[in-house]
Amino acid sequence: MKILVTNDDGIHAPGLIALADSLKNIGTVAVVAPDRERSAIGHALTLHHPLRAVKVGQNMFAVDGTPTDCVNLGIHSLLEFKPDIVVSGINNGGNMGDDVTYSGTVSAAMEATLMGIPAFSISLVTSGEKNNYAAAADFAVKLAEMVHKKGLPTDTFLNANIPDLPIDKLLKPLITSQGKRRYEGMIIDKVDSRGRNYYWIGTVDLNFHDIEGSDYSAVSQGHISITPLHIDLTNYNSISILKKWDFS
Ligand code: MN
Repeated sequence: MKILVTNDDGIHAPGLIALADSLKNIGTVAVVAPDRERSAIGHALTLHHPLRAVKVGQNMFAVDGTPTDCVNLGIHSLLEFKPDIVVSGINNGGNMGDDVTYSGTVSAAMEATLMGIPAFSISLVTSGEKNNYAAAADFAVKLAEMVHKKGLPTDTFLNANIPDLPIDKLLKPLITSQGKRRYEGMIIDKVDSRGRNYYWIGTVDLNFHDIEGSDYSAVSQGHISITPLHIDLTNYNSISILKKWDFS
């Protein structure tokens, strides 16, 4: 198996290193990753300045761009082989519910899917205390083998979230739906040393609606969560309702 590994936490992130090291047990691994953290960059593609790729090891490149840039450069320019699978992660922090839409980790897997290459993203749902990357990396190997063997439905990729638990405490994978975040106190509003207002988006609290069968619900019980995501964002149920709107 030929595997392209990327992430949005940057090429030096421990999650990426753990992932690449474990996937080497089942195939040839190449790493093309951002040269610094690009979390929450979404599916951004760099168009207005040239990109540089620095070779930092065998089949290992640091790019001054986004995760989506890395997948593009890797597949179209940098690698000597076309990957059989693209794996993005292991992200430092969960990518569940609405957060999926901001995630550079998830978007890298989406980009590979647009190119017709099977892909999954994998994130460790950690608050930074334990960081059981080894257990998540072990599961990534199993998931890569499964995806390679079974294939994926058209235009579909997988988003895996792993509870931050030791391997013997992780509960079996559940196939889940994308959950729903509760947005509370998201903006820090303060005054800087020159008397000007500044605003900082973000919160340390992970608040989700506990929807049965969702990614968040599975992870909060200690289960690995696997959500199949689809590139087509169309809400098919609403088409018949909207078709009744009279624009005349
Ligand atoms: Mn990240």
